[in-house]
Amino acid sequence: MTRASHAAARGRGTAARGAGARGAAAQGAGSSGDRAILHLVDRHIGEECGVFGVYAPGQSVATLTYFGLYALQHRGQESAGIAVSDGETVTVSKDMGLVTQAFDERRLAPLEGHLAIGHVRYSTTGSSTWRNAQPIYRSVGDAGFALAHNGNLTNTEALAADLGKFPGVVTPSPVHDSTSDSDLVGELIAGEYGAQPRSDGRDLEHALARVVPSLDGAFSLVLMDEAHLVAVRDPHGFRPLALGRLEGGWVVASETCALDIVGAHYLREVEPGEIVTIDATGLRSIRYAEPRPRLCLFEFVYLARPDSVLYNQNVHAARQRMGEELAHQAPVDADMVMPVPESGVPAAQGFSRASGIPYGDGFVKNRYVGRTFIQPSQQMRADGVRLKLNPLPENIEGKRLVVVDDSIIRGTTSKKIVAMLREAGAAEVHLRISSPPYRWPCFYGLDTGRRSELLAADMSVGEMCEYIGADSLAYIEVDRLVRATGAPAGGFCTACMTGEYPTSVPDAEAEGLAEAGAVSLEEPVHFLPAPADST
Ligand code: SF4
Repeated sequence: MTRASHAAARGRGTAARGAGARGAAAQGAGSSGDRAILHLVDRHIGEECGVFGVYAPGQSVATLTYFGLYALQHRGQESAGIAVSDGETVTVSKDMGLVTQAFDERRLAPLEGHLAIGHVRYSTTGSSTWRNAQPIYRSVGDAGFALAHNGNLTNTEALAADLGKFPGVVTPSPVHDSTSDSDLVGELIAGEYGAQPRSDGRDLEHALARVVPSLDGAFSLVLMDEAHLVAVRDPHGFRPLALGRLEGGWVVASETCALDIVGAHYLREVEPGEIVTIDATGLRSIRYAEPRPRLCLFEFVYLARPDSVLYNQNVHAARQRMGEELAHQAPVDADMVMPVPESGVPAAQGFSRASGIPYGDGFVKNRYVGRTFIQPSQQMRADGVRLKLNPLPENIEGKRLVVVDDSIIRGTTSKKIVAMLREAGAAEVHLRISSPPYRWPCFYGLDTGRRSELLAADMSVGEMCEYIGADSLAYIEVDRLVRATGAPAGGFCTACMTGEYPTSVPDAEAEGLAEAGAVSLEEPVHFLPAPADST
């Protein structure tokens, strides 16, 4: 017997500027999920999601999952959820808000079992409601499974049509209450789950193996039924997924920082095109497709936590190398190198190291800013950056500054930052950005808005410099950025910077993007005909 119970819903070039339920509440019950959550300070791009899974008999898997999600909080702050199995029953508990808001000891205590999965969500498809919080659960007869997804699919409309859904039911809109692409994956797996019943209990991994060739785009998934923990990554491996060993168990997580926090040691990545299953017999692997690695380059630039490891490279050290590359590519006479905290810190350190210009702090960041239910005044909202960053005039006055940040998406924040520094007495402000101009939208799990919202979409670097009000502006070149990762042979997606999409893009966007010069490489994926097991 399997049941799901849910928590109640609550709720390149340099440009110079001229001069200068748990408990069985019905889905959607409760209302605070409807409350406006105000993003006090918009990060330039919306993070995606984080997934975690653990198989550890005899240990408190719910608590391990809680701390795993806590380490992955930067990847999604809208909802958090945990599913646990005690061998007979799968119990799902999820809620809106941060991990610490969704769970406390009282809510974790009943989540007993030997395997669990968890999810932190930033909605990139489907609305930000409790209903779309994950893990999602599907029952199939007297069995069932839970699923947590990081990434976005690019063929949701076709998949929905195959399932008999009306056009538009699955949309990338954050305002319409819609089905998420993760729901679709759940339905597809449920459809296969009972189709060919197996005597060995390995229905979930084999249903998954039959479904994954139909999915286009980005998916790093963790799934579970009563007895199995399953992890899978799309053939391009857009989103990271790490495998770790725990004393007496196994852990999978979006990033290695979540392995560290629970005391697991990193073994390897779940490979692109691989399904990993963990159960009482140990770990086994199915290769369902030949890997075409295209890890999101932005994971290195901004998304991943600096203490995480990608392609066996420490992310913090890679970001410092990005700053060094920038200093060689776009040198400038200046008195101080300063970061836009926190994300610009390692690249600013690297720029300082390579240029010999002293490193210093020009801003103090409010470490606790995030989101609030209290509406600030219109004036405060218009001046939103000041809620997060306050300049240090004593460090800035009369100085020629190199200001290092990791990205510019819409440009509004950068414009305010430059204005604040000039107000505080800066003599010159030279912006150096540790990612190339972000000109194209992402369809693989990042929320950047539409192309029309991207500052670099139709502006030259010189025009952007003028708009932002800096004395000079330079973005790192793509080749230098890839070299800075330390894993140039790893294989990266660079679509948002180059317009070269590794896969087909959603039909609704294809024509407009093609007219603007984007290309869908549609790199062929070679699916392996019959899943072969290995351990
Ligand atoms: Fe990452 Fe950009 Fe590719 Fe999206 S389009 S996966 S943000 S590199």
